[in-house]
Amino acid sequence: MYPDSQSRSSQLYARAKHSLPGGNTRTTVFMKPYPIYAASGAGCRVVDVDGVSRIDCINNFTALIHGHGQPEVVAAACAQIARGTSFGMPTEAEIELAELLCARVASIEAVRFTNSGTEAVMMAIKAARAFTGKRKIAKVEGAYHGSYDYAETSLDATPANWGEGSPLSVPYAQGTPQGVLDDVVVLPFNDIEATEALLRTHAASLAGVLVDPVPNRVGLIPASEAYLAALRRLTTELGMLLIIDEVITLRLASGGAQSRYGVVPDLTTVGKIMGGGFPVGAVGGRAEVMAVFDPSTGRPAVPHGGTFSANPVTMAAGLTAMRLLDEAAHARLNAQGDRLRDMIRAAFANAGLPGQATGVGSLIKVHFHARPIRDYRSAFPTAEEQGLLSRLVLELLNRGVITASYGLIALSSAMDDADIATIGAAFDDALRAIA
Ligand code: PLP
Repeated sequence: MYPDSQSRSSQLYARAKHSLPGGNTRTTVFMKPYPIYAASGAGCRVVDVDGVSRIDCINNFTALIHGHGQPEVVAAACAQIARGTSFGMPTEAEIELAELLCARVASIEAVRFTNSGTEAVMMAIKAARAFTGKRKIAKVEGAYHGSYDYAETSLDATPANWGEGSPLSVPYAQGTPQGVLDDVVVLPFNDIEATEALLRTHAASLAGVLVDPVPNRVGLIPASEAYLAALRRLTTELGMLLIIDEVITLRLASGGAQSRYGVVPDLTTVGKIMGGGFPVGAVGGRAEVMAVFDPSTGRPAVPHGGTFSANPVTMAAGLTAMRLLDEAAHARLNAQGDRLRDMIRAAFANAGLPGQATGVGSLIKVHFHARPIRDYRSAFPTAEEQGLLSRLVLELLNRGVITASYGLIALSSAMDDADIATIGAAFDDALRAIA
């Protein structure tokens, strides 16, 4: 059950309020009246500070593809910690992880490591500007790419502010400079005609198009292959770079979602699973474009530092995690995702509730409506649907299953068939309780 007012979680929250704004830093998982504090994790389970064990279906926002405390990843990280946690010098492990990415993702010829997906996106945008000599960036309405000003634009699009016509460049954080908003062109997802018109209108000033092939906040539906092909054709024709954000979708295939959908971008951003549970990000792509970061012949076009970039502990843990993620592991994870999606669909039907489970492979998103989802606007939940989703998250927590407050599930290789069946049964029970 949810921890009561005497629980250690409740006590910790009362204490946290004195030193952290609103008492939290993990805002996205914050639940009222207080968050559940984690104590430890092992495999696919997390134990909270009151000793309650639950199956973790969010795995730190999709990052922990092998779950918690995977023994080989722990050993690699611990061995590196003993040898040194960070140096002002490069290490061999960063070459090995870069080589692995270049070998697996066909469009990646060179890699630059960062500390987060946000930074990777930021560096990709800077690279596109430096390479093209243009300043604007285009992104899909509502799509999340981290907390860089430009990438955040339109995250707050709602029926109250999105109007009738083309998506608007609406700010997310208060105080976002108008200059930032003016330099972001917001695209309607999967709408080739409208996207083409916008790209042509802004062609003279557009440096690149940033797109997540299966954007979570856009309903976790895939971009159509025709849309991605159109973006590739138009960006090439109009002198812009195509940046595919695979910070989440790298978990879908060893070559990334781009290998699944047959698109070859100029730049790719990655992160999450690639750090073995440690903070990480990277931008990679065509050698000619990546040369903007090359400091070997003097000042690079895009200077990039970072005290902890390519941190050796992250590199060692990430390399081990990625090596464990072979083709068989990918196939198993994706098959389990398909199975759980079917179970959730059946649970909605059993409960007699409208709903659907979208997503690809090991990524699943739950919606309390059966409307066809084409883009951000058609995925957008009503207040009532959002209320039902919050209730479901709570009902699942009370049945020992952790999901994200916005209905996202990311499976881990630590889950076996029995765990998937347990999660499916929890959905069935929770949805019946809601009905
Ligand atoms: N891009 C996408 C598609 C993401 O989902 C995220 C984070 O969820 C990011 C970028 C930002 O990554 P990070 O949270 O590591 O900064």
